[in-house]
Amino acid sequence: MDTYVYQLKDTRYINLTNRCTNNCTFCLRNTYHGVGGYDLRLEKEPEADDIIAKLEKQGNVEKVVFCGLGEPTMRLSAMLDVAKYLKRRGSHVRLNTNGQGSAFAGRDIAPELRGVIDTVSISLNASSAKEYQKLCRSVYGEQAYSHLLNFAKSCLREGIETLLSVVDIIGENEIDACRRIAAETGANFRLRHYVE
Ligand code: SF4
Repeated sequence: MDTYVYQLKDTRYINLTNRCTNNCTFCLRNTYHGVGGYDLRLEKEPEADDIIAKLEKQGNVEKVVFCGLGEPTMRLSAMLDVAKYLKRRGSHVRLNTNGQGSAFAGRDIAPELRGVIDTVSISLNASSAKEYQKLCRSVYGEQAYSHLLNFAKSCLREGIETLLSVVDIIGENEIDACRRIAAETGANFRLRHYVE
């Protein structure tokens, strides 16, 4: 419980929240509650200072990812404070996101990420709004899909390295269609291995 910072291979991960605007059918929150032996359920969401205090004790790390067991952009202010600290320490900082952070904030958040988040990896998950909603059950309904694509374009405009990712269980045709959507958007495409 209350694992805010965890390490998998050569990368450190930061778990800011268990909340999410999606409720994906495949979400680990519904099954194992964590990853790599870590229980990522939070009784209390950490403040930026809590995370920075933990990182202070751990020495420098090259790669850090905001990921967690929820949607990091729902804690935008804390995420940016920690990211700024990490950039001062010379880390490469990645955000794994459902791409709905601007919809949640009610403004385009991409300009706020510029210079503090090096890479944004957005889960595309499906090749259409309808299919996405079936899988991800967003609070924004089928609009979620255009929210995430607009966020990807906005991040690209800000000069942030932007990836659209899918898990490798969705089938070859769907993977190819998603690859095309990423190319049309101008984002890089990333195929992720599904973790059960
Ligand atoms: S976007 Fe991620 S955290 Fe949110 S419900 Fe889907 S898998 Fe879970």
